[in-house]
Amino acid sequence: MSFPPLSGGFDHDLRGKRVLIAGAGGFIGGHLARRALERGAAFVRCADVKLLEDWYQVHIGCENLILDLARLADCRIACEDVDVVFNLAADMGGMGFIENNKALCMLSVLINTHLLMASRDADVERFFFSSSACVYNAEKQRDADVVPLREEDAYPALPEDGYGWEKLFSERMCRHFREDFGLETRVARFHNIYGPHGTFSGGREKAPAAICRKVIEAKYSGTGSIEIWGDGTQTRSFTYIDDCLDGIELIHGGPVTEPLNLGSRELVTIERLVEIVEDIAAVRLVRDYRLDAPQGVAGRNSDNTQILAAYDWEPTTALSDGMERTYAWIHDRMVSWDRFAERMRAPLTMQSPWPDSFSPTSSTGPTSPARDNT
Ligand code: NAD
Repeated sequence: MSFPPLSGGFDHDLRGKRVLIAGAGGFIGGHLARRALERGAAFVRCADVKLLEDWYQVHIGCENLILDLARLADCRIACEDVDVVFNLAADMGGMGFIENNKALCMLSVLINTHLLMASRDADVERFFFSSSACVYNAEKQRDADVVPLREEDAYPALPEDGYGWEKLFSERMCRHFREDFGLETRVARFHNIYGPHGTFSGGREKAPAAICRKVIEAKYSGTGSIEIWGDGTQTRSFTYIDDCLDGIELIHGGPVTEPLNLGSRELVTIERLVEIVEDIAAVRLVRDYRLDAPQGVAGRNSDNTQILAAYDWEPTTALSDGMERTYAWIHDRMVSWDRFAERMRAPLTMQSPWPDSFSPTSSTGPTSPARDNT
């Protein structure tokens, strides 16, 4: 496969564009909305099915709409007068969620299908779809000592049941909307994105956030032990959110129309991931391996040959650095928030609970109680 060279950066950047972020109440969508504002988008519309108080981030400067994008009528409202659509909306979670909610995961097909139809009818210039490494053939992921996955390894198709099939089908839908209707579509296959402002409890959290939460719980409760799903030898690569945003911008703005991997190549075992978090927290914990828990494929890594060839770029954030920032954010939510709640329960003795720099009426402060789903 050969790619036309990118000259002078993106051929389709966000400056001056009218942008829709679907799923903006979620982890990646919330970050991407901020990035679009920073890039000088003329208008950013954020849409999510959740109540605003449950969005991870709400940005002043965006139009924030509560819409059910599984419905075509809501997609038409969302796509009205926009140039660019980023579809980050899906019913998804970590392995525990996707192994036990296959039908729900597949119903996300309604979101992408209706967003594509509404985008076509609204003459949207470019449509970005967030696919997943879960599209890859399971046969290629049976060994923890992995051969990194190349884009062509998605076929012959044997993806993750439910969630992976929906992503693979929706990738093809994007392709055919491009070929048949002339809607410019771009697709990235995300490999385990992690970072602040994401899910860390409630059942939809992924391994990096779940491990941070479990280490913090063990540290402050004094149990001294941590439950690990599987035997800890499964291997994965994890991609920090800032790299993910850079990759989305490149893939969205560039000429490559076929799906591209967007993933770090730093392969670690789950055991090593736990050790990294233990180092950050300055604790050592006894392992309680849960061999019957959902654990996904034995090993998975990203082959970045294509994205390097096309854009001379790949994710670079070291896992230990990204996890330090993620741990700090979750720690802040779990520990500082508990202390704050305690102080709220004792109002007679309470001084102002707000940090000097933060006003409770602001909607952008990371510790705003109305903005974080904690
Ligand atoms: P997230 O769950 O934090 O965000 C998804 C958002 O979509 C949620 O806020 C949810 O409320 C919203 N949504 C669900 N159904 C909707 C509907 N009918 N109408 C409107 N909004 C709806 O997930 P995320 O981690 O931010 O992932 C974003 C996208 O990236 C998803 O498509 C996901 O499948 C894909 N992806 C993520 C990862 C990862 O590691 N986070 C990996 C691979 C692919």
